[in-house]
Amino acid sequence: RNQGRGLAFATSDQQSGSRSSEALALERDLHRALDNEEFFLVYQPQMDLRQGQIVGVEALLRWHHPERGLVSPIQFIPVLEDTGLITRVGDWVIAEACRQSAQWSAQGLILRVGINLSPRQFLEPTLFDRVMLLIAETGANPNEIELEITESLAMQEPATAIALLQRFRAADIQIAIDDFGIGHSSLEYLLKFPIDAIKIDRAFVINVTNALADRAIVRAVTAIGQTLGLNIIAEGVETLRQCDFLEALGVTEIQGYLIGKPMPPRDLIMLLQTFSRP
Ligand code: C2E
Ligand code: CA
Ligand code: CA
Ligand code: CA
Repeated sequence: RNQGRGLAFATSDQQSGSRSSEALALERDLHRALDNEEFFLVYQPQMDLRQGQIVGVEALLRWHHPERGLVSPIQFIPVLEDTGLITRVGDWVIAEACRQSAQWSAQGLILRVGINLSPRQFLEPTLFDRVMLLIAETGANPNEIELEITESLAMQEPATAIALLQRFRAADIQIAIDDFGIGHSSLEYLLKFPIDAIKIDRAFVINVTNALADRAIVRAVTAIGQTLGLNIIAEGVETLRQCDFLEALGVTEIQGYLIGKPMPPRDLIMLLQTFSRP
């Protein structure tokens, strides 16, 4: 085991030519983070605008560094990706989110749990089998699991991506296209993908109340989504005004600080109770 890790160090050091010393310091500490149980997940609620109910959550990874405190995933996810550590940490995320999902199901809560997959994870040939194994081991309900993938990576090899997505779909697992609108992909490709949801990037939500072009894009995406029976989730909704605009444009769900920040399960349960109260 130790030998294996030593090797991983050597390989990643060789590849790190241009990496900053900051990234190297993070990398060194990330190697220990999993075993030291420094990672945890928080869950951000997603509200269905038609029902006024929280119907799902997105699982978001957090790293509590022993000296630095909380480190943002914006900083450490790229390092995990570059070093290949994302495979182990990503499996931990899937297992932990599935375990939480199974626990919520056991408590009678119907809550879809979104799990982020990084490009590197998505391209691993063993991904499907590992996800199925982790679902089986934790007792999670496959149809309450939604995998979030980014359009850019899915576009790289459309035929491979479509085949993989079809396997997930056949296994009853839902698929969402994350950060929609910021890639350079063709809409035509996307329409060929067997998906369940599109997540509209926060960049469009910010401008939806004042920029005609962004509003037009959101309107076009929701129109296509409606035709295809997809869920359209708007991300980063912070104000009631944005929510009203998005609802009028046909968005079906919102996620953002307006509904709740990413939070530990305990707080989420309290939020769910306030929502279900008449
Ligand atoms: P993302 O998948 O687009 O996740 C949404 C991000 O927007 C989260 O940032 C969330 O906290 C933030 N957010 C949500 N609502 C609002 C809002 O109303 N206002 C503002 N300003 N921000 C909002 P977070 O948690 O820092 O995560 C950043 C990114 O890190 C994620 O973007 C995702 O790409 C990546 N990430 C997080 N967890 C994981 C993970 O488990 N696996 C992988 N592969 N990537 C992850
Ligand atoms: Ca996401
Ligand atoms: Ca996103
Ligand atoms: Ca994003």
